[in-house]
Amino acid sequence: MTKGRLIIVSGPSGSGKDTILQKVFERLPEIKFSISTITRDMRPGEVEGEKYNFVSREYFENMIKNDLLLEYNNYVGNYYGTPKAPVDKAIAEGKEIIVEVDVNGARNIKKCREDAISVFIMPPSYEELNRRLSSRGTDAPEVIAKRMKAALDEIAEAKNYDYIVVNDDLNEAVEDFITIIKSDRLNIKRQNYLIDEVLKKC
Ligand code: 5GP
Repeated sequence: MTKGRLIIVSGPSGSGKDTILQKVFERLPEIKFSISTITRDMRPGEVEGEKYNFVSREYFENMIKNDLLLEYNNYVGNYYGTPKAPVDKAIAEGKEIIVEVDVNGARNIKKCREDAISVFIMPPSYEELNRRLSSRGTDAPEVIAKRMKAALDEIAEAKNYDYIVVNDDLNEAVEDFITIIKSDRLNIKRQNYLIDEVLKKC
C-alpha cells in the first residue's frame, strides 16, 4: 500500500481556506500543493505558477483531449483543472499532495481515487459567513447575496467529505487540519509497508 496520499480540500469563499492552507504549508513544508490549470484572467496580485497556471481555452481543451487532467470543471464560464502528472508523481514518491478544488472537483476525484481523503473548511455560522462576505468593502447587496447563495450551495455538499474543519479561531483550525494529516499518517493503510519490512527480515 502506498505511503503517499492525495488530500482534497474545499470550502466556500469566506471559509478562510487559503489562509489555513498557507499556515499548514509553513508548518508541514514537506506537503506538496497541486497547482491547478485554469483559463480565467489573472487577478491583481496573482503570480503565474504559484496557485494557478493560467492558459488559453485552446490549451486547456487540448489537455482534456490528451487525458492530462485528473478532473476539471467549468466554473462561472472558465475551466479549472487538476493536472494528473504532478499528483501521480507525488504519490509514487510517497508524498502527500493537497488539491484545492470546488465541490464538483472533489466529487470527481473521489470517484477515481477512492483512497483520497477529503477535508471541507467551514465558516462557524451563517451569521459569521454573512459578516465575512459583507466585509469586503464596496460590494452591492445583490453581489453579497449571490456569494452567500454560492457558499450555502457548497456547504450543502460538506456531508460528503471525510472531515470538516470549522474556521472560527484560525489557530485552532490550523491545528485541526494538521491533526487530520498526522492521524492519517498513522493509519494502517499507510504503514503496511513497515510491517512487511520487519517481517521480511525474519
Ligand atoms: P477562484 O477563481 O476564486 O480562484 O476559484 C474558484 C473556485 O475554483 C474555488 O472554489 C476553487 O476552490 C476552485 N478550484 C480551483 N482550482 C480548481 C481545480 O483545479 N479544479 C476544480 N474543480 N476547482 C478548482
